[in-house]
Amino acid sequence: MAARLDLDGQVIEPLKICMIGAGGFIGSHLCEKLMWETQHSVLAIDVYSDKIQHLLEPGQSWSSRIEFHRINIKHDSRLEGLIKLADLTINLAAICTPADYNTRPLDTIYSNFIDALPVVRYCSDNNKRLIHFSTCEVYGKTIGSFLPEDSSLRKACILFFLDPSYYVLKEDESPCIFGPIEKQRWSYACAKQLIERVIYAEGAENGLEFTIVRPFNWIGPRMDFIPGIDGPSEGVPRVLACFSTNLLKSEPLKLVDGGQSQRTFVYIKDAIDAVMRMVENPQRANGYVFNVGNPDNEVTVRELALMMTEASVYTKVSGRPQLDEPTIDVSSKEFYGEGYDDSDKRIPDMTIIKKQLEWEPKTSLFDLLESTLTYQHKTYARAMQQLLSKSLPT
Ligand code: NAD
Ligand code: UDP
Repeated sequence: MAARLDLDGQVIEPLKICMIGAGGFIGSHLCEKLMWETQHSVLAIDVYSDKIQHLLEPGQSWSSRIEFHRINIKHDSRLEGLIKLADLTINLAAICTPADYNTRPLDTIYSNFIDALPVVRYCSDNNKRLIHFSTCEVYGKTIGSFLPEDSSLRKACILFFLDPSYYVLKEDESPCIFGPIEKQRWSYACAKQLIERVIYAEGAENGLEFTIVRPFNWIGPRMDFIPGIDGPSEGVPRVLACFSTNLLKSEPLKLVDGGQSQRTFVYIKDAIDAVMRMVENPQRANGYVFNVGNPDNEVTVRELALMMTEASVYTKVSGRPQLDEPTIDVSSKEFYGEGYDDSDKRIPDMTIIKKQLEWEPKTSLFDLLESTLTYQHKTYARAMQQLLSKSLPT
């Protein structure tokens, strides 16, 4: 394997990386990249290993470079030792599915703040670099979304929305705007914001070398689970897996509160390239908060559902006819329960990541949906048929 060069042309020495949450969606793609394309080593920490099992099988050319530790970071004294052994810690561990934020707010806050605190402290105490995964949700809602429906200011805000400087989210300028406490949806964003502030303060007061990542709806294969197949039948994953489940069952896609919220989606493989640049270019990444998303891939959730159901995507990959009724509306109370709330619009500003890491996303929404749905169909269609036939009355 040829030596890897950083963005300034210097040879990159192999690193030992302590990756917490390595068995999740992002962790599995990052581990693949590190094993298949670099000489870096990984101490992989998670409570689950299914999504990286293919990397852990013995006898592969990278086997000596990956070591799995089944550890729950809430209560395991081995964590600090592993952080000490590594050059860099990447913390991905979190409860991060919106269905949990309002129904399990305590677990959400503990997972995203309390459990992350020792990781920050161990890195700071042992002078170890930290890449911490936060979220685009720290930006919360747009100012316009709080104004009363009939206010003239709201109408003015709609006009503001013609000017990107009023809605594009900037790491070093945009405020964090959350709903009231009883809207427990914001428990996640608030916990993530506070841990960001702790990390930033550790950098300012104690010299911690850190990078904070704010992912904007990364999607691709292995995201979350399909309820009843590789996750709990009553579980509610994020939108890609919810809509994939509906498609696999040939049932209408459920649009929460009309599917009017807007999101920008980025392909996981593009996003992993951004993370690799952070890993391998500490001199350019330390001390920064980075948005990682694709501002060109903005759609409403309704548009996303229609793209996923229309002939060009799912019928093409599955060979099945288009649904007669592609979507149905559900209220957020019915779908998520009390205390749900939503971010209305999320467009990342790309100035900082472009300047520091020379990174730009490449994959269009159409292409990323096509490859992801092909994966979902290949992986789950047969299991779903079996599940559905079992539940038919005999
Ligand atoms: P994921 O749920 O697939 O992965 C998280 C992993 O952390 C899981 O494998 C889980 O088992 C592990 N984990 C959780 N608590 C743990 C504990 N106490 N001990 C050990 N392991 C534990 O989620 P993901 O999509 O891969 O997200 C990774 C990170 O990125 C999270 O911090 C999330 O908040 C952030 N993020 C992701 C997105 C996205 O678009 N995927 C968006 C915003 C933020
Ligand atoms: N959503 C939806 N139907 C579903 C699942 C989600 O309409 O079956 C909506 C949800 O209300 C939100 C958006 O899709 O507006 C994205 O939800 P996701 O769970 O992916 O996470 P978020 O981007 O809100 O963090």
